[in-house]
Amino acid sequence: MGRVERAGPIRSGKVTVDAPQTPGGVGDAQFSTTDTDLISDRYVAPVRTSRSVSVVRRLAGVLTVAPVLRLAVARYAVPPGVADRAGCDGCGAPVGLDRPLPALGPTARCPACAGRIGAAPFAVEALLVVAVAVLALVDGPVAERVALAWWLGWAVPLVLVDLAVHRLPDRLTWPAAVGTWALLGVAAVTGAGAGAWLRAVTAGVVLGLAFATTTLLLGRRGFGLGDAKLALGMGALLGWQGWGVLVTGLVLTFLLSALVGVVLLASRRVGWSSHLPFGPFLVAGTCLTLLLVG
Ligand SMILES: [Zn+2]
Repeated sequence: MGRVERAGPIRSGKVTVDAPQTPGGVGDAQFSTTDTDLISDRYVAPVRTSRSVSVVRRLAGVLTVAPVLRLAVARYAVPPGVADRAGCDGCGAPVGLDRPLPALGPTARCPACAGRIGAAPFAVEALLVVAVAVLALVDGPVAERVALAWWLGWAVPLVLVDLAVHRLPDRLTWPAAVGTWALLGVAAVTGAGAGAWLRAVTAGVVLGLAFATTTLLLGRRGFGLGDAKLALGMGALLGWQGWGVLVTGLVLTFLLSALVGVVLLASRRVGWSSHLPFGPFLVAGTCLTLLLVG
């Protein structure tokens, strides 16, 4: 999809385009300065068009998973102790992937009573677009970015569930962490080596244990165990890059949460005793850090 050699006009023979040929096309069209200089002006426009088409195709591909993520949000965005949601709150109409629209579409409307189901309209889709943008902007070998893509795929419903009901369900946090560790293992075998993977896993465990410890020491005033499980993957992704990156990620995460907390307090949307969901900050802090170091 969107490989550079398909762009057509670049066939002069003297132009060598050294773009990584990745399965998902994530790293395509990254020319070195020299390569770009060799391409005459009249060829640049078609290349840009090809790149935009590639991004649009990739986006369209990613958006096909939106109904699955919407189903996850609808199912798990329920208070603790309440059974997973199987249908519309208003009329009980079942919600499933066999008939995804309109309940699991961007408008999130029940086909029977038109009540809203799960995440807000266009929320999942908007976060997926952000996730694709992060993946496109973060540098690194394909295997590393596949691990990040996996984690982000789970992080999107986790953020929305946490915002809705202040929960990070095990059904989403464990696969996110285990898959990320496994895929980073593939990245280690295919290039980075065992050292990077050991550091990543250690960072994940240390971060997860640190969050879990606050729960034990501070109870409800500490972080939740869901945050600790989400941190297993976050710590691994950041620790993979280095210990300094892990620290940067933590600092950015806490800065973001403090900033948003102050803004919400100032606008009187929350009180001093309010408990902000922390999952969204963990995800945002991770993305921001990877963008800064990538
Ligand atoms: Zn309904």
